Amino acid sequence: PRQTQIGLMSHEELVSEHESQSAKYATLKTEKLTLDLTRGKPSPEQLDLSSSLLSLPGDGDFRDGSGTDCRNYGGLNGLPELRAIFGELLGIPVERLLAGNNASLEVMHDVIVFSMLYGTPDSPRRWADEPIKWLCPAPGYDRHFAITEALGIEMITIPMRHDGPDVHAIATLLANDPQIKGLWAVPNYSNPTGVVYSEEIVRELVSIPAAAPDFRLFWDNAYAVHPLTDTAAPVIDVLGLAEAAGNPNRPLVFASTSKITFAGAGVSFFGASQANIDWYLSHASKKSIGPDKVNQLRHLRFFTDAEGVREHMQKHRALLEPKFALVRRILEDRLGASKVASWTEPKGGYFISLDVLDGTAARVIALAKEAGIALTAAGSAFPYRNDPEDKNIRIAPSFPQLPELEKAMDGLATCVLLAATEKLL
Ligand code: PMP
Repeated sequence: PRQTQIGLMSHEELVSEHESQSAKYATLKTEKLTLDLTRGKPSPEQLDLSSSLLSLPGDGDFRDGSGTDCRNYGGLNGLPELRAIFGELLGIPVERLLAGNNASLEVMHDVIVFSMLYGTPDSPRRWADEPIKWLCPAPGYDRHFAITEALGIEMITIPMRHDGPDVHAIATLLANDPQIKGLWAVPNYSNPTGVVYSEEIVRELVSIPAAAPDFRLFWDNAYAVHPLTDTAAPVIDVLGLAEAAGNPNRPLVFASTSKITFAGAGVSFFGASQANIDWYLSHASKKSIGPDKVNQLRHLRFFTDAEGVREHMQKHRALLEPKFALVRRILEDRLGASKVASWTEPKGGYFISLDVLDGTAARVIALAKEAGIALTAAGSAFPYRNDPEDKNIRIAPSFPQLPELEKAMDGLATCVLLAATEKLL
């Protein structure tokens, strides 16, 4: 019988497979598609789930439970009632959780810049006064790597495993190099792999000895409450574990409602030890008199309590699950037998990470682009955009409608097979 596993094909079989995929690709190009799988943006239907925010808090409603007039200046910490809701979801006491403006990335950027300009509470000198380095589990989030790259911080790639980053690699580096000041982490439903850090890995990360006294875990829990199955991954109490391990100032927790309410008009959160919170506020108070409290009040009215957030997330799940299922079905149908690709099956979050035949990811992305299917640039999920094996492609299925997503994924599968046969011929 004819071989379906591309790596085991005879020369003739490979030639015939290449011809067949080339023909499919030629047809694909005649369709003149314009499809976009680049960013993890919520779809319009997802944004509609929060449309009542557009008329909240409503005429005459501008005071929170403690009587604060949200229209006025002040309240740098954010509204206590909203912080209590997210404190419950993130497992962080309300005193150590701040609510801010819409972008948690902005807070991450600020924390690094503050550390460079002023040093952290544990820093022997300002981060700007020495060359510093950062641990980057990869595949990871391109915008994290963009921040550290822009600030001139040397990024060190750490392999990602099924239960979190490779802690053995981290331990050796951390123990010996005082210039390593930070690590990027997305502990729940990681971008782009969907990996959930195990409790064992989290315990290691908070306790591994570090040569730098001011080493920080940038704990970006952007997908803390974003399950796609009935069993949500637990939100591990990283601050409590770090305190118990004698490193209370190590984790800095970030989150936001960007993938809960409006991606461009949500609320961000920052949680940390009391020393870090005080330090952050002392610097943040120079750049702002306070965050947009009307937006925070609007969110408070919209959710009411933590259960309100969980119920709301089930509505997102209902819209997202069919899209993830569709991507999985097409990948399996079109690429399963050929054995030239593997992909993650995330139980939450926004992404699927596709690994194609080594040395073909850039070619696949270029072929897809020519056929009108936009994918994130090759290597995006790696520091300096350098995917050492040129095999990783991030798929973001949330934004397109199902029929468009189907077309885009089917076209992508053709590009994967075409690039693989080209490479092997
Ligand atoms: N962190 C991660 C891991 C993300 O995937 C995203 C959104 N794609 C963000 C942060 C952005 O968060 P925000 O909108 O709060 O800046």
